[in-house]
Amino acid sequence: MFDKFTISCKIEMLIQKSTPEGDNMDDIKDIIEEIKSRCDIASIISEYMNIKQSGNNYKGLCPFHGEKTPSFYISTSKQMYKCFGCGEGGDVIRFVMKMENLEFMDAVKILANKCGLEINTNMSKEAKIKLENIKKFQDIHVEAARFYFSNLVGSKNQGYEYLMKRGLDDKTIRKFGLGFSLDSWQSLSDYLVKKGYSKLDLFNCGLVNQNDSKTHFYDKFRNRVMFPIFDYRGNVIGFGGRVLDDSLPKYLNSPETIIFNKRQNLYGLNFARKNLKDRNVVLVEGYMDLISLYQYGIKNVVATLGTALTQEQGKLLKRYVDTVIISYDSDEAGINATLRAIDVLTNLNINVKVLDLKECKDPDEFVRNYGLNKYNEAIENSIHYVKFKINCLKREFNFEKDEHKIKFVKESSKIIKKLKSPVEVDYYTKYLSNQTDIGVDSIKREVYGKDYNKSYTNKYKASKEEKVIEKPKAITNGTTFIEKTLLKAIMYDKKIREVVLLRVDESDFLIRENKEILNYIIKNKELDKITIDKIKCLNIPEEYLQSFENISLDSINLGNIKQIDEIVKNVKKNKIQHEIDKLLEELQEMESKQHNNDMKEVDFENMEIAKIRISQEILDRQKKVNSL
Ligand SMILES: [Zn+2]
Repeated sequence: MFDKFTISCKIEMLIQKSTPEGDNMDDIKDIIEEIKSRCDIASIISEYMNIKQSGNNYKGLCPFHGEKTPSFYISTSKQMYKCFGCGEGGDVIRFVMKMENLEFMDAVKILANKCGLEINTNMSKEAKIKLENIKKFQDIHVEAARFYFSNLVGSKNQGYEYLMKRGLDDKTIRKFGLGFSLDSWQSLSDYLVKKGYSKLDLFNCGLVNQNDSKTHFYDKFRNRVMFPIFDYRGNVIGFGGRVLDDSLPKYLNSPETIIFNKRQNLYGLNFARKNLKDRNVVLVEGYMDLISLYQYGIKNVVATLGTALTQEQGKLLKRYVDTVIISYDSDEAGINATLRAIDVLTNLNINVKVLDLKECKDPDEFVRNYGLNKYNEAIENSIHYVKFKINCLKREFNFEKDEHKIKFVKESSKIIKKLKSPVEVDYYTKYLSNQTDIGVDSIKREVYGKDYNKSYTNKYKASKEEKVIEKPKAITNGTTFIEKTLLKAIMYDKKIREVVLLRVDESDFLIRENKEILNYIIKNKELDKITIDKIKCLNIPEEYLQSFENISLDSINLGNIKQIDEIVKNVKKNKIQHEIDKLLEELQEMESKQHNNDMKEVDFENMEIAKIRISQEILDRQKKVNSL
C-alpha cells in the first residue's frame, strides 16, 4: 500500500534541507520517531476532518480532492493515510504539511507541541542562543506591531487618514496589522523598554537607531504608516514605513536581522499560500498593490517590496506555485524589473506570464479604477513572457530600417531559443513572423541554428513517398512534388500552359530535371499535348520520369485559374525559400567562425559587413515571397 522506502528517503532529504544549523541530526530523527509513535494519526486527522471508523481503520472524504463518496483511508496499524481517489498518501507529518501547507520542520514542530515534546533538546549552545534570540526578536516585533496598530486606530491621526484616502477599509487594516509610528523620537522604545526589553535588543532587531557618537538610541520609524512584514508562517519579522507626504525615502524598511532576510522573504506569502488558485500567484512590487488587490478579492498575491526579485524568493515561490503572473508597475523601472524577474523565474522552470495594466501606473490604481472583474480579466489575458520580451524588444527598433528588422528578429530568436517545448517555439516563431513579415522557416533556422537542418530533413525523410534523384539536401518532397505538378499541368493543357508560361521561367524552378523539362515545354509550346513519351528524349533518368507519370492531376481543377495561380506561387515561393535557407546557412557559418576562431579584427569587421549584405539579400527575398 505504501512505499516505505520512498517516504523515509523523503524524510531524510527534508531533514537535511530544513534542520536549523547546530541541531543534532540524530536527535531530530529520534524526535520524529517519537512524534510518530505518540501522535495517533487518526486522532490528528480527525482534528481537520470528519472520519468514520471502518473495522480497524477509518475513512472519510478526501480533503485533497473534491469527492462525494469517501476514498480516503487511514490505517491505524501502519499509521498511514491514503486516498484511492487522488493517490495522496503518507504519514501524519505529511498530512499536516499538506493540510497546513507547511515545510517539514514546521509540521514536526506543530506535532511536537501537540504531543508535549520539546523540539529543541540537546542543541548546541550557539544554536540555543540563536533560537532564543529569534524567539525574543519575534516577540518584540509582535509588541511593536501592536503599538503601531493602537496608534493608528486609537485616535485621529494622519496615518489613518492616509490609508482611508488610499481606499483601504478597517477590515483590511486589521487583516494586515497596519499601524502608525508617531512623530516622536522614542515613543516606541519607551513602550518596549517598559515591556522589559533592552534598548540593545531593540537596536539589534532594527527598530531603533543609534546616533553617530553612540551615546543614545532613537526610534527608526517616525511619522510613517507602518506595514508589518510577515514571514510565510505569519510571524512579524520586520516593518516597512511609508511617509505621509512626498518626502524621501518614500519607504523605509527594517534592516537585515537574524529574523529578517529580505532576499528570502516575500510579502504576503503567509496569506497567499492559503489562497492559491491552481498553483498560480500574482507578483506585485509594493505593499499598497498587494493590500489593495487583497481587499478587492485577489488573494493569491505576493510582493517583492521594492527590491529586485531574488533567486531565493523564486525558490520560495516554487514550493507553492507553478505559474507566476507578474503585475509590476507600468513605468520604465517596472518593465525593467519585470524583465529581471522573468529571468529569475524562468531559470527555476516556473511558468511566467505578464499582466498588462493598460494606462494605469500600478495594480492598486488599476483595481481601484476598474474593479475585481477587470483585474481578473487582465489575469486571464496576461501574456506569455516570451511575447512580453519580444514586445519590449520591438520598442528599441525602427522597422522602417531593414538592418533594424534583422537585428530585431535575431534578438527575438535568442529569446525563443530558450523555450523547451517545440510547440511553444512554433507558436512564437509564427508570432514573430507576423510582426516582421519574415518567414517562419527563416526564423526557425535562426532559432535552431545548425540543428535545424537535421530536424528539418529528418522530418521529410520520415514522410518520404517517392524517390528523388540527386536531391540536394534542403530540397523537400514538397518542392519536387509541386514543381512536377505544375509541369504536368502545363504539358497536358495548352490553355493553362499559355497563362503559366507568361509567369514562370527556368529560374523559378529548383530541380535540374524540372528546369530541362520546362525548357522543352517552352520550345514546344505550340503542341496541343506534351506527353511523357515526348520528353523521354531529354537526358533525364527513367526513374525520374516514372515518378512524373505517377503524379495525378485529379485533385486539381484545371479550369480554375485561381488554383493554378496558387501552384505557380508555391513553386516560386519554394525556390526563393530555398535561396533564403542557403543564405541563412552562410550566415550561420560566418557566425560560428566568428565565435570559434581567434579572428583578426579586420577579418571580423569584413565578415560583419558581409553578414549585413547577406542579411539584406535575405530580406529582399523575404519581401519577394510576401509580395507573391
Ligand atoms: Zn484524494
